[in-house]
Amino acid sequence: MKQRKRRRTDPYEPQTLTRAVTHIRLEAANAGKLAALDDLAQVYLALCQQYVTLFCTDERPNKLRAPLFATLLSERWQRVAIQQAAGIAQSWRTNRSQAHQDYLDDLLDYHEQQAEGTLDAEAKEPAWREWSIPVLRQTCIQANVNVVVLEPAQNSTFDYWLTISTLQLRKPLLVPVKLAAYHREALAGKTINTSVTLNKRGDGWWLTLSYDQVVPVHTEPSALVVGIDVGIANFITTSDGQHYGTFHGQLRERQKRDREKRRRKAKLRKCLEKKGVKKLPSTTSRSGQRLARHVRQSINRAVNQCFAQHEGAQIAYEHLSVATMKFKARAMNAYLYASNLAHIPRQIAWNAAKRGVAAIRVKSAYSSQECSVCHNVDRANRPNQQTFCCRVCGYSTHADLNAAINIGHRWGDDELQACKGRKAVKALLMQRHQVWKQQNGWP
Ligand SMILES: [Zn+2]
Repeated sequence: MKQRKRRRTDPYEPQTLTRAVTHIRLEAANAGKLAALDDLAQVYLALCQQYVTLFCTDERPNKLRAPLFATLLSERWQRVAIQQAAGIAQSWRTNRSQAHQDYLDDLLDYHEQQAEGTLDAEAKEPAWREWSIPVLRQTCIQANVNVVVLEPAQNSTFDYWLTISTLQLRKPLLVPVKLAAYHREALAGKTINTSVTLNKRGDGWWLTLSYDQVVPVHTEPSALVVGIDVGIANFITTSDGQHYGTFHGQLRERQKRDREKRRRKAKLRKCLEKKGVKKLPSTTSRSGQRLARHVRQSINRAVNQCFAQHEGAQIAYEHLSVATMKFKARAMNAYLYASNLAHIPRQIAWNAAKRGVAAIRVKSAYSSQECSVCHNVDRANRPNQQTFCCRVCGYSTHADLNAAINIGHRWGDDELQACKGRKAVKALLMQRHQVWKQQNGWP
């Protein structure tokens, strides 16, 4: 089962979760039937790509845009393609502008350090590489009731019938759907959403159904706030000093083995290519996919455990930006870790929502450099990856724990939340540091 969730702003508001039931295989009653779906998909994908490109370049994404491109598809199908393309383009634009903002912050940081003379000898000026437009490679159709209708089957060995409009007018495709026992169990008593997703993978077509579920928040507003720091040595560190899961040890060993294997394969390919061999071994690594799945499972386990052991608490966790991820992944295999790091906050959000726990994402800027006692912000407070040691007040602890405490403090800190950019956050924290110094009679 896959899950989706809306962005939450008020932590006590009930959550509407859209739960998806995936991997429902479409029965190939006869080969010709699904061939009509293949034909449709080809035209659909090409059109959807045209709108994705349009919405990523010349126009802002608009789900209601009037059809522009010539196609064999009916107007209803064109609307579906436009809507799906707008969604894809919108998230591409959001991610791109977030990454660009991170780049600008990095650049500012770099120039600041340059001016102060605190720049690392190996530090390079951050460079921006423009993103390429998304290319739709996999066949995925996010259909609505105007083009695909799902109806319960009567007096039949099947559970549902899908009626799919095709390229031929008034010649819809009727496809039977048979649910597995666990699908039936998941959907029992639920109102299934009218929008469905069709995926083509390998030689088969797969259906995804979904339903909405409203989960009230059980957490008391007066409950203890637990801050969560996300990292590599520890997936999760809580502000009460617990650690859950790690990329080190077993996962790291597996990743090393996988990388070796890929290297050998690449060498072999080059060798064969020189000899003029046409059929080359594939570059995609099955063990790599298994490893990625294994990492996600380890993360899910760690997050589950953390929630189980902090029942009744409310959770503050980090808004991980590209810059934060890079910082956390410094001097390691940044790409591997960066994508996996992003899975952790997603799991935290999902766990909080389904358990009815109040949770909120807070700004992560300087959470690892700020002293949780006196608010002094200084790169030098981190003599190494594991240690935090404040250069002013001398407070010393595990670096991840200090960060988790800071994140916990940021719950309800509207002043900090309102800061635009890293520079503003730093200015606010240093201002608080001055106040702390005065209050504690610091010279
Ligand atoms: Zn301090």
